[in-house]
Amino acid sequence: MKRVAIIGSGVAGLATAIRLSLKNYDVTVFEANSYFGGKLSSFEKDGFTFDGGPSLFTAPENIEALFTLAKKDINNYFTYRSLDESCRYFFANGKKITAQKNVDAFADEAEKVFGEPSENIKRYLENSKKAYKNIGELFLDFPLDLSLITKSETYKALFSVKFPYIAKSLNSYNESSFKTPEMIQLFNRFATYNGSNPYKAPAMLSMISSLEQSQGTFYPKGGMISITNALVQLAKDVGVQFYLNSKVEKIETLKDTVNGVLVNGKNYKADIVVSNMDIYYTYKNLLTDKKYAKKVLKQERSSSAFIFYWGINTTFSELGLHNIFFSEDYKKEFKEIFEESILPVEPTIYVNITSKHDKNHAPNNSENWFVMVNAPAHNKHNWEEQKEKVKKFIIKQINKQLNTNLEKHIVAEETLSPLNIQEKTASFMGSLYGTSSNSKMAAFFRQQNRSKHYKNLFFCGGSVHPGGGIPLCFKSAKLVADGIQ
Ligand code: FAD
Repeated sequence: MKRVAIIGSGVAGLATAIRLSLKNYDVTVFEANSYFGGKLSSFEKDGFTFDGGPSLFTAPENIEALFTLAKKDINNYFTYRSLDESCRYFFANGKKITAQKNVDAFADEAEKVFGEPSENIKRYLENSKKAYKNIGELFLDFPLDLSLITKSETYKALFSVKFPYIAKSLNSYNESSFKTPEMIQLFNRFATYNGSNPYKAPAMLSMISSLEQSQGTFYPKGGMISITNALVQLAKDVGVQFYLNSKVEKIETLKDTVNGVLVNGKNYKADIVVSNMDIYYTYKNLLTDKKYAKKVLKQERSSSAFIFYWGINTTFSELGLHNIFFSEDYKKEFKEIFEESILPVEPTIYVNITSKHDKNHAPNNSENWFVMVNAPAHNKHNWEEQKEKVKKFIIKQINKQLNTNLEKHIVAEETLSPLNIQEKTASFMGSLYGTSSNSKMAAFFRQQNRSKHYKNLFFCGGSVHPGGGIPLCFKSAKLVADGIQ
């Protein structure tokens, strides 16, 4: 059996381990932390349970595929349910809407509340769905290399690319698709799903909305941490070995071939190495390859986030699982994040409350609030200094929108800054999704899954092809496993 060493137990590292073990490789995962899952982790504080990072679960077919492959019943590991609503949106002008899974109902409601012709929404989502099917799947399911020339999917995609998808920014595409500022802002938000700026990112990203609005969103029983737990259990059941508290210090190479890893001062021989660690740090720290590390730096990092985890000693019926309180000036917010590299002065606020579905995530008559604002990737910022300012703004906004006095209901608090994200997961500059998609060519510049410079070295996870976010991390695992012969 050939030996594989996987560096990191993020969702992509776990999925790769399962796939390779099922292909009869002898797989060992080394994880620097004392816990599994990287960004996809959870913690408890004062009787409240919080998912640490990701909160939105889409495209469950990616995790289903692993259990099918392993011939195991997913229900013994993991259950999830489809949700009728994807998000509750609150706008600065006081208007609000719940994005329902049923597109007709959502479009009709948008017409009633904002005056947006429902046809505009239906047409937009239909086009996004087609673009995802015809173009998106090619970008996400295959390596972006010369082999694309031989694939029929490539020609289907080329014929489906509409000029605006590459010529326009997402914002200008949305401005030409919708009449009302509220719908433009709502559909601009999908650029943030991979940490990008809607005023710069290509209109091609409009296809992201189809995943959420057409296929719907899901909730894993027990919260997002259930994804990590299920993957770890499945990996163990199919023979994967794990070592926690095991930071890989070096990828061992002999000329241009990798042959193992150095962990806690000991050498572990391996025929194949897969790095689930951020690609910049893989080159810089594990391969001490300054040239390629520098090349990665040419690409702009995705945005990061500042998070408050609040235990709230009351409940809010106006809120659901996912809630957005939009800023008044969205353009200014993204200018601050990407051009000025400052925490936005008046940011859009995202509130996720898993106790709406898992009552045991909060004490009786209480709620666990995960409150997130988009932030620039870390670059010498003093987050402690920013914390109180942004907290004050968040409380003021929510008090205004929900007519409450939030401050007196916060009974537990924990925070996570971009610097903390970097420290906890070795994600360079604390970016949530590796590199941004702010340029038309970003997808092509992203590190591919097989190293061109070292034999038997592969990369998976949010900082490499096809990009960040849980669905794409699962896809990178498949690309790695398919690429290893
Ligand atoms: P990571 O989670 O980055 O984990 C990498 C692992 O490698 C870590 O466990 C780390 O400890 C380990 N490691 C690093 N260096 C070493 C070393 N030298 N030796 C051994 N181990 C090492 N995505 C969504 O789909 N939906 C969301 O709602 C969403 N929201 C997000 C919110 C936040 C706050 C964050 C932080 C991310 C969010 N994302 C979301 C993005 C998503 O979490 C990531 O894209 C995904 O989890 C990244 O997984 P990964 O496999 O790349 O590994």
